[in-house]
Amino acid sequence: MAANLRYCFISEWLDPASGILWKYQLFYYPESKEVEMVDIKNRRHFLKRTKYEELKPSLLFLGSVVTVFSRQLKLTEYGDEFTRNRMESQSERTLAMIKPDAYKNMGKIINAICQSGFLISKLRIGKLSKEEAGEFYAVHAGKPFVDRLTDFMSSGRVVAMELVAPGAIRKWRELIGPTDSNQARAEAPGSLRAQFGTDKTFNACHGSDAPDTAAEECNFWFGPGRYPGKCDLAAGTTLCLVKPHLVADGAAGLVIDLIQESFEVTAGGLYNLDRNAAAEFLEVYKGVLPAGDFNSMVEQLTSGACIALEVADRDGADAVEPFRQLAGPLDPELGRVLRPASLRARFGLDAVRNGVHCTDLPEDGVLEVNYFFTILPTAS
Ligand code: ADP
Ligand code: MG
Repeated sequence: MAANLRYCFISEWLDPASGILWKYQLFYYPESKEVEMVDIKNRRHFLKRTKYEELKPSLLFLGSVVTVFSRQLKLTEYGDEFTRNRMESQSERTLAMIKPDAYKNMGKIINAICQSGFLISKLRIGKLSKEEAGEFYAVHAGKPFVDRLTDFMSSGRVVAMELVAPGAIRKWRELIGPTDSNQARAEAPGSLRAQFGTDKTFNACHGSDAPDTAAEECNFWFGPGRYPGKCDLAAGTTLCLVKPHLVADGAAGLVIDLIQESFEVTAGGLYNLDRNAAAEFLEVYKGVLPAGDFNSMVEQLTSGACIALEVADRDGADAVEPFRQLAGPLDPELGRVLRPASLRARFGLDAVRNGVHCTDLPEDGVLEVNYFFTILPTAS
């Protein structure tokens, strides 16, 4: 690595207390893992050059949200040409979908995505209407298979994701394999369509085919003011949050796969919580936990993206208590002794980075689910 390498982004931070939008130059020095911030309006240092090892270089791309000393900064522009030249090619985007036939394999597919080095910058579970499916596949309008295709695409939930990686468009199409799943099994047996698809229509995954369609399709799902594929929330469901430390480690797919083994996932989204939202969501713990522990929980929830899931019992029973059993004791150390198969025992590091949050009380299931899926905006 060249000495004195320095990247610069223009970033925005919305001060939750005052509602003021601050703009900073954010400098990152990859060799020394230092950050530096300059307040653009007042032209003065906000943060002098300081070591900050928590910042992951893989999060340095436009539209990303990075947490720097508890502040969520949205990277809105390149700060200089050097950064643009270096980073633009590193952060190509594509729109990936898990189609209704592979929804039950969402965890496995998300795991394959993470293991292949993609970053999931946006994610939303939704259910397209036939009209919305037709709009998404407008380029195929008039083709003989389009009616079957839009029936299929509106037949169940889909997972839409914006994936970021060097050469993401081609890389994702390589991972999913040829359009026809039978051809995929013959030519690319390890591909996702070979593993999870059936034929030419029911082929498990979607991937954009070029930069312009990738931009259009990402905008279809995640553009400002857009909200296609709105899911109905069910009753008796519970909330699971895959915490930022697991999302950052690329372990979310493994957790979701274990959840799907015994529960139905009925809604979901990727969120970047700010301090206010995290503190509001965790409010009930404020009185019962020591202040330091409460702050650490808020800190963990704001340290990066988390994935929220609405979890339902397969037979329509209340899901809160049975899901709490799967989550296991709050402290993973205790869980490893008492319930070694639980999610927290398997994925938790300590009482704060304990892998997942789950709703504690049956009466809170609906409240927590609603907080995420009707009140908060997903990553956009
Ligand atoms: P891809 O998804 O690989 O980019 P296309 O853009 O050509 O493939 O088609 C969009 C989707 O329409 C395919 O993923 C598949 O579900 C369906 N499809 C495409 N071609 C056919 C066909 N000849 N018969 C039936 N379904 C098809
Ligand atoms: Mg296509």
